[in-house]
Amino acid sequence: MYELEYAKPSNISNAVNKFDQSKDGKYLAGGMTLIPTLKARLASSDILIDLKEANLSNISVTSTHVVIGSMTRHSDVANSADVQKSIPSLSKLAGGIGDHMVRNCGTIGGSVANNDPSACYPSAVLGLGATITTNERELSAEDYFMGMFETALNSNEIITQISFPIPDKSSYIKFPNPASRYAMVGVFMAKTGNKVNVAITGASENGVFRSSEIENALSSSFTLESLDSLDISSDGLIGDIHASSNYRANLIKVMAKRALEEIIT
Ligand SMILES: Cc1cc2nc3c(=O)[nH]c(=O)nc-3n(C[C@H](O)[C@H](O)[C@H](O)COP(=O)(O)OP(=O)(O)OC[C@H]3O[C@@H](n4cnc5c(N)ncnc54)[C@H](O)[C@@H]3O)c2cc1C
Repeated sequence: MYELEYAKPSNISNAVNKFDQSKDGKYLAGGMTLIPTLKARLASSDILIDLKEANLSNISVTSTHVVIGSMTRHSDVANSADVQKSIPSLSKLAGGIGDHMVRNCGTIGGSVANNDPSACYPSAVLGLGATITTNERELSAEDYFMGMFETALNSNEIITQISFPIPDKSSYIKFPNPASRYAMVGVFMAKTGNKVNVAITGASENGVFRSSEIENALSSSFTLESLDSLDISSDGLIGDIHASSNYRANLIKVMAKRALEEIIT
């Protein structure tokens, strides 16, 4: 018989202690990915350590940063007037995730810990150059994402918050899978001064990445025309029943143009 214990610690150090004492513990956020994965026996665990009471759900905004606690739900980010004002593309991204249930249960920390190659948040984290804070350290977005479903997190490490620098302008455009709303391709574009960051999700077999090709073109000329001549290679892009790698390569260019259009108009 499959036994699964449940704990709801009231702070992070108790959560880590529970994990360290377990054989195969798992931290539980909204359960949107973890529970179906366990039910399908794609993962197993002897204890679920629920982070709901660990005081990790909060949003604060300064003149330079938006800081979001890891247990903050997508619906809270989408509906936050402070986030809408400081980084509108981030609240729009959160409001476009999945369906009502996913937005009301899923969390930013769960999304970034899971690092699904089609998830939306990783593109904002990388595109805005966010900092991921854990119970052990601070990680830059560049150092955090290690590939499809891979991150720099140690097995017992807990994301506590994510800090997003506020750009001058930014935009997130995705071509959603019509069933799940995950990104078949999503482009997060951020401009601060002369610096342009472009992060792509949904497309690569290695998960979220920055497109130096698009960034270089836009750094030379921040215009729609500068993207016209780009020929995005399909090497290393995902090809599946939803879209071929060539189709995704074309989507990258189309979504990048739409993101740019939103910024310059
Ligand atoms: C039908 C459906 C549609 C979706 N559509 C989209 C979409 O359009 N765009 C998109 O971006 N996402 C989408 N998602 C993903 C969703 O946004 C959730 O964020 C994601 O499923 C993770 O769920 P969760 O936050 O409940 O975390 P859980 O499922 O509870 O946990 C996920 C993983 O993260 C670990 N974890 C959770 N919190 C932490 C933490 N603080 N520190 C360390 N590890 C942690 C858990 O141990 C587990 O391994 C969709 C999901 C579903 C089910």
